[in-house]
Amino acid sequence: MIQLNDISKIYKINGEPFYALNKVSLQIEKGEMVAVRGRSGAGKSTLFSIIMGSVSPDSGNVYIAKGYSVGYLAQNAIIDSDRTLFDEMLDAQSEMVALEKKIALLREKAESGDEDASIEFSLAHEKFVADGGLEYRGRCRGILASLGFNDQMQSMPVNSLSGGQKTRIALAKILVREPDIILLDEPTNHLDVESIAWLEKFILNSKKTFLIISHDRYFLCSVTNSTLEIEHCKAKLYNGNYDKYLETKKKDREVLEHQYKNQQKEIARIEAY
Ligand code: ADP
Ligand code: MG
Repeated sequence: MIQLNDISKIYKINGEPFYALNKVSLQIEKGEMVAVRGRSGAGKSTLFSIIMGSVSPDSGNVYIAKGYSVGYLAQNAIIDSDRTLFDEMLDAQSEMVALEKKIALLREKAESGDEDASIEFSLAHEKFVADGGLEYRGRCRGILASLGFNDQMQSMPVNSLSGGQKTRIALAKILVREPDIILLDEPTNHLDVESIAWLEKFILNSKKTFLIISHDRYFLCSVTNSTLEIEHCKAKLYNGNYDKYLETKKKDREVLEHQYKNQQKEIARIEAY
């Protein structure tokens, strides 16, 4: 679904260039749920921005399988809007809103005896129903409610909310569109326990492809089945969720330590000789 070939990104600190990412290649398959891990400043957010095309790499290329949509929650994404929460949410369903308006117009014409409009109305209405037109407002309300916004809050202007709440609206807008590939950069930072539990269920039920940057170990373990480690400007994909990855890392380190000790012994032996 996503393929990166030899991606490098060079930034500058005080005029001195340094690599944020150095020849990163990887492939993410359909339905994979990837935990993206690495210390702060490792290049995780940079990698997401490059996949989304908002940051261009200094070398390499990104392929996203044809016909697949991508949704992206940036780290601390904030929506600046005077609209109400609910209207802001409808903005993520603009095709539905437009179709609904068209249907209302056609209905009026049909009712005043326009036969062409009547046929067109039937077709448009059929498509509307098939696309979930009867449920989408309820879905918008439901997702907002699950993220902690009750009906009363849903009619408040977005700009009256706190920064963390605005990030939650950004998350809601992405989820309601159900893109095929979803990139979430620290989604749980602004969520309470109930909302995190809801998001876990949402992700597990959605059967989409996910890449998730998070420091919440419990959350990652329950929703992911592979782990992308960003370290020393490189990316390495491990099978298994975050706990499995930690186990594998621990074993790898033990093997390396063992090899190191043997090597030291061998050096000491040769030196003594
Ligand atoms: P992470 O998300 O893993 O914490 P980032 O991708 O945000 O890391 O950053 C990786 C490195 O690149 C960091 O050292 C950061 O300071 C640097 N960096 C990120 N964006 C820029 C930028 N626009 N200009 C210069 N340096 C940047
Ligand atoms: Mg980051």
